[in-house]
This record gives sequence, C-alpha cells and structure tokens, in this order.
Amino acid sequence: MLDPGRWSLKGRFLYITGALLFLGNFILIGYLYIILEENITTTAADRLTLLREVAAGEVRRMQDTLHAQALALADIRAVQEGLEAGEAAALRALLVPYENKIRHGLRAQSAEFRLAPREAGGQTVDPAAAQACERHAAAMGVRVEDGRPVVYAVVPVLRDTRVVGTAMAAVSLCEALAGASLPPEYGLAVLVPEAGGPADGAAPGLGERLVVASSLGRGGQDLPSPETLRARPVARKGHVHATLMGLADSQGRQTAGVVVSYNAALLGQAKWNRINLFAWFFIGGALVLWFALYANVARIERFFSRLKKIIISSHSNYFGERFEADHLHCLDVMHCHNEECPVYQNPSLVCYLETGSEAISPRWRDTCIFLNKYDSCKACPVYAMRRGDELTEMRNVVNTMMRLWSNFLGRVGHLMAYVLRSQEHTGQMPSLDEISDRLEEMAKLTFFSRDLQGVLNKEEVHAQLGHVFADHFGLRRLLLFEVRADDGSMDVVLDHVPDQPLCRDMVLRNTDACRACRTAEDVVSFYNPVLCPYFNCDQDKDVRCCLPMVMGGKVGGVVTFLAPRRDWEGLRKQLPILRKYLDEAAPVLSSLRLLMLSKEQALHDPLTRCHNRRFLDEFITTFEPLADRENRTTGLLMCDIDYFKQVNDEYGHEAGDAVLKQLVAIIQATIRKTDLLVRYGGEEFLALLQNVEPGASEAVAEKIRATVEQTALRLPGGITIRKTISVGVAEFPQDGPGMYKAIKFADVALYEAKRAGRNRIMRFVPTMWTDQEY
Ligand code: GH3
Ligand code: MG
Ligand code: MG
Repeated sequence: MLDPGRWSLKGRFLYITGALLFLGNFILIGYLYIILEENITTTAADRLTLLREVAAGEVRRMQDTLHAQALALADIRAVQEGLEAGEAAALRALLVPYENKIRHGLRAQSAEFRLAPREAGGQTVDPAAAQACERHAAAMGVRVEDGRPVVYAVVPVLRDTRVVGTAMAAVSLCEALAGASLPPEYGLAVLVPEAGGPADGAAPGLGERLVVASSLGRGGQDLPSPETLRARPVARKGHVHATLMGLADSQGRQTAGVVVSYNAALLGQAKWNRINLFAWFFIGGALVLWFALYANVARIERFFSRLKKIIISSHSNYFGERFEADHLHCLDVMHCHNEECPVYQNPSLVCYLETGSEAISPRWRDTCIFLNKYDSCKACPVYAMRRGDELTEMRNVVNTMMRLWSNFLGRVGHLMAYVLRSQEHTGQMPSLDEISDRLEEMAKLTFFSRDLQGVLNKEEVHAQLGHVFADHFGLRRLLLFEVRADDGSMDVVLDHVPDQPLCRDMVLRNTDACRACRTAEDVVSFYNPVLCPYFNCDQDKDVRCCLPMVMGGKVGGVVTFLAPRRDWEGLRKQLPILRKYLDEAAPVLSSLRLLMLSKEQALHDPLTRCHNRRFLDEFITTFEPLADRENRTTGLLMCDIDYFKQVNDEYGHEAGDAVLKQLVAIIQATIRKTDLLVRYGGEEFLALLQNVEPGASEAVAEKIRATVEQTALRLPGGITIRKTISVGVAEFPQDGPGMYKAIKFADVALYEAKRAGRNRIMRFVPTMWTDQEY
C-alpha cells in the first residue's frame, strides 16, 4: 500500500489526484469562509462606528438645541421677574406660547423653570438645576424620568447678575428618535435601567440590568446581552453586530445607553453567494480535470491490457491479435489493389507504414517505393497520414512488429521444416518455443555431424549413434544392424538389449525377413502391431520402431528400438530429427565401408582372400618388435604345391585357381584363427604361426602336408585330383635374428624339400644356407 512501486495506474493518477483535489477544495472553501467572516466583522464594525457617530452627533445636536432654547427662555425679562417674584402661575402662562413655538423644532419637548435652591424652600432640588445655579453655567445631559430617557439642558436665569432660578428645556429621547428612519439592516435601541432600580437621582449607572426603552428598525431584536455589550466594543449575536454608546447626565453619570446594531445576514448572504459561485466553479473545474484524467487513464489501461493480450498471443504463436488500426499500405496510397502482386501480398517487401513513424527497419526503409521521391519518412505522405498521438504511434509500432514477427517466423518455420524435413510442417508457423527447440536440435545435429568427421572406423560411428539415441531421445533399448555388402547378410553392430529376443536371430540369417530392409521404409508397431512378424515386444507397453539407413541407394543398416507406448506421441514428432541423425551417419558409414573395402582389397589377395605381401610387410613392422620383446616363437611355414604347373596345363587356369582356393581352405582349417596366411608368390603360401612352442611348427607343417595329400581336390566339371605339397619350416627367432631372415630360411628349407623329392616338410638347418648375408 505504501510502496509506490505497487500502485496501479488508477491509484497513481485517479485516487491520489482525486484525494488531493478534494482536500484542496475543502481547504480553499474553509479559508474563504474564514476570510469572509473576518471581512463581515470588519465591515460591520466600520458601519457600527459610523452609525454610532451619527447617533452621538444627534444627541449632541439635541442638547445644543435644548441649550439654545433654555437660554432663550432665561433671557426673557418676564421670566426673570417671575422667578424673582416666585410666581409660578405667571411663569407657566409665559411658558405656553414658547413651548408651542419650540415644539416646531423638537417633538415631545418640554420646558421648566425652577427657583434657585435657596428660593425653592422645601422643594426637591433638581441636581441639574442646582449645578447650573452653582456654576452659573448650563448643565446638559440625559436622565431617566419614569423609565424614559430624557435629554435636557438647564441654564441659570439671572437678574442683575443674581441667579433667581433655572430654565430647562427637555425632550424625550425615544420620541425624538422615533421620527428617524434607518436602512433595514441597521437598528437603534435606547436602553435604560430596569424599573425598580435605585430612585431617580441616585445615579443608577449602567452596571445594573437594562431594558429597551425604545427601538428603531431592528434595533431591539436579537441584541446581545447587556453584559456582552458592555464587555466588548462590538458584540455579536448571530448575524447581529452591536455596540453600546453610553449617555450621561450633567454630572457625568451613565444614565442610559444607545445600542446601535447591524444585521450582517444580508451582507454575508451576498458575499457567501459570490464565494459559492467561485467554489462551484472550482469544484466543477476539479471534476472536469479528474474526469479528463479518468478518461486518459482508462485509455492507457485499455492500451496496456490489449498489448498484454497481443504479446501473450504472439508467444503462443498467434499473430492475428492486433490493435484496432486502419492499415495503410503504400500501395493503398497509390491506389493499387492488385492482390496477386507479391509486394501487395507481402507488405514487408515495401515500407509498410503501419508504424506512422519512421519505418522500423532500415531494410524495409531501403525498399520503400517512395524512397526515390522522399528523402525521409517524415516527408512521405503515408507517414503524414498515419501520424497520431503517442499511444496511436505505439499501437502502430506494435502492429508492425507483430506483422514483421509473423513474416519472420513464417519464413523461419518454412526453412526449418525444410532443413529438418519435418513431416509436421503444415504451413503453420512455429511458436517461439518450437523455434528455439528446433534451433537447439539443429545445433546438436551440427555438433554430431562435426564429431563424425574425425571418426576412425565404423565402431566409432555406431557408438556415436548409440550415445545420441540414448542421450537426446532417451532411447536406451536399441539394436543396430549392418548389412554386409558381399552376401547381403546382416551383423549386429550395436546391441543395447542383449536380453530381449527382438528379431536378432531371424534377420541375421535372412535379410529379406527384415521389412525395413526390404522396403526401405520406417516400420512401426504402434499403428499396426502385426506389420512385421518379428516385432517381438510387449505391444501393450512398448512400441517397436525400425528405421532403415540408406547408403548408396541401398539399405545399408537398420536401427530398431523399443520405446514406452505412452512416450510414442512425443517420439513420433522427434522421428524426423532422429532420421536426420541417421542421414548424417549414413554417408559416413558408407564411405568408411568403401574405405575398408579398398583397404582390404589392397592388402588381400582377391582370389584366395589371403593376405598379400604388402599386408605382410605392414604386419611385420608392428609384429616383429612385439614378438621380439615378449620372446615368443613364431613358426614360418612356406608351402608350395608340387608340380602345380601341370594342373594349369592339363585342366586349365580355372582349375588351377580352384586348387589354390582349396589349398588355402585346408591350410586355414589347420592353423589357428590368430595365425596368418599370406599368399607369398604364385602358388606359394606362407603360414605365420604366432606364439608356438619352439619346434612345434614342424608338426603343423606335417599336418598340412598330410591333409593335402589325403584330400581329393575338386575341379570345375566335377573332376577330382590329388596333389601334394612341400613345406619349408623355420622359426623366429631361433633360426634367424630377423623375421625376414627367418622367412628366407623357410623358403630355403622349401627349396631343400623340393630337391629332396617333394611331398615332404623340411626344417631349416644352418647348413642349408651358405651365404653369409641375406
Ligand atoms: P614345383 O613347384 O613342384 O617345382 O613345380 P611347379 O609346377 O609348381 O613349378 P612352379 O612353381 O615353377 O610353377 C608355378 C606355376 O604356378 C606357374 C604358374 O603358371 C602357376 N601359377 C601361378 N599363379 C597362379 C594362379 O594364380 N593361378 C593358376 N592357375 N596358376 C598359377
Ligand atoms: Mg610349385
Ligand atoms: Mg612355386
């Protein structure tokens, strides 16, 4: 969750952005609300200050008016005289016309005369009047009478510089204010101490409970409490902001108050409406931004999921998955729709601008049909047509890559099927896994082919084949037959199942019994268990398969193996590869056979199949030091038919050949398999007896002689004759220090035998040889 590497596209671009936009909106609106509140408070305070000044000015103006009126009354001589005389009735009569006159200026106005305190006798002394008399100056202020605030001005009335009384002009504040008009959001309220408070003149002050004496506009409604009003310059209750202005009497004591109030609801509403409008615009913008992001993220997500699908499909060898795109071929631009044209069929032959950007491979670029016309892809009109945003370009690139891959793999599959001669090839392109498997197989095949180059003989080839079959194909139960060139019989040259009967015994005797050999075709028991009568395997468990190896146009060998039946399907697909190994081995085996044949012909006598003298020379080169070192005795018998010429002369050369062959057969039957028979001259044969007891050679020679003497030799035409032979015997190293010398001595002994009358053996003795050097 906290690891950014694991965040999805939506998490990255939608959820985080959405949360940030929401938080930003929330903070912005909160901030605007605070600003608005401050602004409203400041505005309300400003407006209250103004109203308060107006109200204070009005009260001052009222006092000044009252002062002037009181002065006018005090200036009247009749008043002065009336007060001096203390005639209240006369004074009252004087006063009426003035009161009426004055009332034109202020309503609810009253006037009053009072005697100076000393003339007042027992009357209650008005503090304002007393103050005016005492100070000889006007006393002005506001006082509360019968719960109503009254603005008053008291001036001393003088008679020849002597204070005879006071003249007072007063007006009820509430009634004076009642005529004023205020805008709807403003209010004015006059507060007085609650009735029942201290008696008039006891100066209650404003520390007591207050009541609204009168109000103007919305002034009396929803006011903050008096305590709050006194505590703060501007108090607030709901939307109503209010400030208290104290009114004092002439002694300076707070007697009443005026509360000016301002209802900010309308102002707030107007401002709030503007902020709302802004906030909705902002939220709208954020939502538009978020949805734009959403649309783009959804587009990118669709791109990725499609890309994933395309890549996965391509891995499973299906290249039909593409992005939806308008294919635009150079040839389309040229309005060529000849679908038989190879270029039209194979778009990769030209610059296939599915990319919309630069051609992907310079190779395609080189073959662009517009190349001569335009210097670069960007100048090409097809390029201009294909251009889009990055995602569109990526889509086109992917489409082009898929097309190129599809063409490439198609060609690779075709070539591989051709090279491996796969029977599986159905025109379908191979998957990447198949291609890599086949490349691996081809590499192994190449190594195998290279390894065959250095082999010395057929056995090595057989061993290599055995290894490949076991190691690459898991076939460990197999036989390899080799067909003999001369008589067509077969030899087992590789036998990995010596304990199982298979067909070994039958086909060795008769090659025609082998169906693979006969037909030169693969023989498999899977489909038809009775295809060959010699399958000889448990058909429920195993499959028997025989593959002929063709050499020089004929079957030169057969590989036969057993595989578990359950593995057959996999193995069947591998058969073309397996066959390829046999194809590689067949010419090598064939040439090795030819080589051996020519070598055999070079070292053997073609008539009797005996070794010739060239072979004897090679043999002696390796054999002599060996026999010498191990101090072994080698017997040398030089055999020559007596009067052989007569046979030729009498019966013909062919008869002579037949005699030679029969003589060879007699000698070979007498000597051991390890001994060597060499045709030394025309009808002279040298038998080389390995590892004999010293002196034992003579007995062998005698046995040969006696056998020849007793054998009736058959000539062509059914005639039989009898012949004898003479044998000269020598032994190495007893008779001579070198092998050649010993052979010479055997020849010398033969000569002696002939001389002594033929049909005998003669052991070499040193007296037979008089020459010192051979
Ligand atoms: P002997 O050895 O007893 O002295 O008498 P011979 O008749 O055998 O005398 P010689 O060794 O001189 O004769 C050898 C003859 O063998 C000569 C030649 O015609 C004959 N000969 C040599 N090679 C062949 C061959 O491959 N086939 C046949 N048919 N005759 C051969
Ligand atoms: Mg002879
Ligand atoms: Mg001879």
